[in-house]
Amino acid sequence: MTMKIVFDRNKCTGAYSCVQEEPEKWKPASDGKVDLDGSVQKKPGIFECAITQEELEKARIAAAVCPASAIKVVEE
Ligand code: SF4
Repeated sequence: MTMKIVFDRNKCTGAYSCVQEEPEKWKPASDGKVDLDGSVQKKPGIFECAITQEELEKARIAAAVCPASAIKVVEE
């Protein structure tokens, strides 16, 4: 099974809840939004990053605390 974070940067409002939960992955950017470390842009504003089993729990927490629903954890 592959697990990944899908980040819709278009929705990001810069609340930085994700940064507080997982600063290793979520980096404040100069435009007031965040960048997902190690991600690749798949469509305009849509970034994806594969994660390990160990990273899954923190990724789920980041997704849960994002007030803009910009973070999704996908298992496929
Ligand atoms: S919690 Fe959501 S809205 Fe806030 S900075 Fe992170 S991705 Fe953006």
